[in-house]
Amino acid sequence: MNLDDLNVAQRQAVERTEGPVLILAGAGSGKTKVLTTRISYLVEDKNVNPGNILAITFTNKAANEMRERVDKIIGDNSRDMWISTFHSCCVRILRKDINKIGYNRSFVIYDSSDQATLIKECMKELDINDKKFDHKMIISKISSAKDKLMDPKEFARQAGSDFLLKKIAEVYAVYQERLKRSSALDFDDLIVKTVELLKSSEDVLEFYRNKFKYIMVDEYQDTSRAQYELIKMLAMGHQNICVVGDDDQSIYGWRGADIRNILEFERDYDDVFVVKLEQNYRSTQIILDTANHLIANNIERKKKRLWSEKKDGEKVQVKLLKNEVEEANFVVNEIYENSIKTGRPFSEYAVLYRANAQARAVEDALNKFQIPYNIYGGTKFYERKEIKDLLAFLRVIVNPQDDISVKRIINIPRRGIGLKTIEKLEDRASMMKESLYSVLLDVDNNSDISTKAKKGINEFLDMVGLLRALNEVYKPSELIEKVLDVTGYKSELEFQVKKNENMQNGKAEEAQDRIDNLMEFISIAIEYETGVLNSGEEKNLEEFLSGISLSSDIDDEDNDSIDKVSLMTMHSSKGLEFPVVFIVGMEENIFPIARAIHSMSDAEIEEERRLCYVGITRAMKELYLTYTVSRVLYGKPNVNKKSRFLGELPDETVEILDSPVKPVEFAGANYSLIAKYADKYKNSMNLESAKSIGAKIKKEKDYDAMNVACGEGAGYDSYDSSKIPRLKKGSV
Ligand code: ATP
Ligand code: MG
Repeated sequence: MNLDDLNVAQRQAVERTEGPVLILAGAGSGKTKVLTTRISYLVEDKNVNPGNILAITFTNKAANEMRERVDKIIGDNSRDMWISTFHSCCVRILRKDINKIGYNRSFVIYDSSDQATLIKECMKELDINDKKFDHKMIISKISSAKDKLMDPKEFARQAGSDFLLKKIAEVYAVYQERLKRSSALDFDDLIVKTVELLKSSEDVLEFYRNKFKYIMVDEYQDTSRAQYELIKMLAMGHQNICVVGDDDQSIYGWRGADIRNILEFERDYDDVFVVKLEQNYRSTQIILDTANHLIANNIERKKKRLWSEKKDGEKVQVKLLKNEVEEANFVVNEIYENSIKTGRPFSEYAVLYRANAQARAVEDALNKFQIPYNIYGGTKFYERKEIKDLLAFLRVIVNPQDDISVKRIINIPRRGIGLKTIEKLEDRASMMKESLYSVLLDVDNNSDISTKAKKGINEFLDMVGLLRALNEVYKPSELIEKVLDVTGYKSELEFQVKKNENMQNGKAEEAQDRIDNLMEFISIAIEYETGVLNSGEEKNLEEFLSGISLSSDIDDEDNDSIDKVSLMTMHSSKGLEFPVVFIVGMEENIFPIARAIHSMSDAEIEEERRLCYVGITRAMKELYLTYTVSRVLYGKPNVNKKSRFLGELPDETVEILDSPVKPVEFAGANYSLIAKYADKYKNSMNLESAKSIGAKIKKEKDYDAMNVACGEGAGYDSYDSSKIPRLKKGSV
């Protein structure tokens, strides 16, 4: 096999087929390329039977891609090879032999909602109050115990006299019994039971040690302790194990991945051949120096430095903007001008952020510039169902003759108006050449319509009437809140969150996401009202809506051949590369992200820093980092200092661009404080009481925070109490 296109270190990693090999491959150093080449090399040059090879990757997608690449080199031969994720590999092993540890071979796999149901039953059986003990918390404790291969007995032992842990240990024990009785395994059990099987049955262990003579693991930094043990048991005989990872890119700690696995590999195996792939084929030296300097602040890591042959390159551009709108405008303007100057297609640009909700501001700017884009791992903001519904409500308030919008919301939330009824109403409207709404107004005289539907329609009409009246009193941001309340839209979502919160079926998260998006929509209205979005005089709902239609309505068939800018979170950017990368929101509490419940531990900060490292190393040629004085996110104003990560970059590789604004320095302006005051204002019924709250805050010497909540410290020109977000006008 021709290995000419590999560098010396890569070739060594491929050719060293016997014994343990640890490839500590920096970002963009050809990690995956080495792994696939190695598999092919084993078959082609070393005559290894494909059935003797086990390759583990992190996702099914990655496994399929790896198989495709190997197929290309060695053809059909790859069929007998196990290229899979940990979980599917374990299912295969267990189907064959799980009876040896007392389970039925036709076991079922419980998903997270089955799991929740069973846990609740166990709690009932033990008379454990589910009001006092959150079963979601119990599930997560049990799951992380399983990640560490801790069985119920060991769990109970470690719990000692701790009341809570003792209770969890009881549930854990009963839960495992019940699973076994039902011949069921949960997801974590797939790994745990495989380890148990291999431990208890010498024959089975021998069989797989003989079968898998060569073992390879990609994305090794993201394996859990249990997965680590599994691999160790299989590989311990021959020790022909090759793992590929980058400790600096471990970003799934919250999912049970254990960075120690990579740091301790050398200790667990004999004579480990360590290959450091430090040549990066992706980025300029300037970008790599920046990444290296940043990650050097982490203590828990193997020292390594990435280098590149691409010596020249632009400095990393750092820019402070006034707010998220200006930030997005800056980014999009740079993309636009840069693409004209260099002739680069839009597909060579990526905008990365910490949280999905940050995409919205960038989307608005891209729409304004009519630049096509793709969001990975998320739906475009204005295409989301909840946003479309809300817009339809607002459009009907402004113009009830808008048939499309009326039709969209007439039965939201459900009020017994079926499709048949709507059809009849539409027929009548087209016959009379009237709008749907006029036909609705006349519904009581319509003998075609059932009494139940009539009742629903009248409710709908009353609601629209009320909202139209409210529109006369409230400004858009306030009205939107009213709409969400009056229609019951928000409480329905909140109900969904509550109802599903312990089910682990994803529905609670989905509903919470929708609420977050709706709150984010309020951000847009606030931006509009405070003049960030419009310079004109009129600040009413009509103007607001037409502004939105103009900015969101661009011709954009979902066509992959269209040249598009990529938007994604830094988590989803792992493994990808782009010539020009923007990372937005480089602010404390945004990135590193603020944890709502507790302050960040050092370990969590290190994980955020690795995430920043992943983001930076996606860039091939140019990198921009932006931050703002203030931003409205999830409908709340934030003022944060610049991210500590910016302060950790080397002076030599960074160019600070001129800023139109000054940075904020005041202390105490943290998210929770702002939220606290924003909430106080929200609950104040009129200006007078808002003023008295203001006076009280002043006395408490928290006026910086108050300014923040009011938007003054946020770089707005003058203080004006009417700019207080979500302050109610009058007392309706
Ligand atoms: P990440 O850590 O981001 O997942 P990686 O280590 O998996 O990166 P790859 O994606 O395999 O790296 O490779 C990065 C880029 O470098 C690819 O475009 C690849 O084709 C290129 N590359 C790798 N090795 C070489 C080489 N020896 N010569 C030229 N290009 C190479
Ligand atoms: Mg890779």
